[in-house]
Amino acid sequence: MAYDTDNIFARILRGEIPCNRVYEDDWALAFHDIRPQAPVHVLVIPKGPYVTLEDFTTQATTEEIAGFWRAVGTVARDLGLSADGYRFLANNGRHAHQEVMHLHVHLFGGCDLGGMIKRGLV
Ligand code: AMP
Repeated sequence: MAYDTDNIFARILRGEIPCNRVYEDDWALAFHDIRPQAPVHVLVIPKGPYVTLEDFTTQATTEEIAGFWRAVGTVARDLGLSADGYRFLANNGRHAHQEVMHLHVHLFGGCDLGGMIKRGLV
């Protein structure tokens, strides 16, 4: 899928739409999800134009990949999630119901998050 430069996260990266920012560096931007599904629900996005993990891991430079994943860990730590644990999750493509077509990792925490995935899929 081609990258749509008007997707909402691209617009946040360009500063056209505000976000509740928690972290930014050369490789990543992190901000609170607008519809939180846990006491802490933060999104971490790479700065480059990647739709999915496939795009990212085939087209991004090693520096971008390392910088992004280091930022995910930094954000979780800075949010104070490391001691009690947290979940990081990325909806990737149609079967995962990805809504925003710019790669993003959800960080959930701040409470017991329960089981990993809806039961009964297999
Ligand atoms: P998904 O693509 O299904 O992994 O989820 C996209 C996420 O982006 C959802 O949890 C939305 O609540 C969130 N979202 C959409 N627009 C914004 C926005 N402007 N600011 C922050 N979060 C957003």
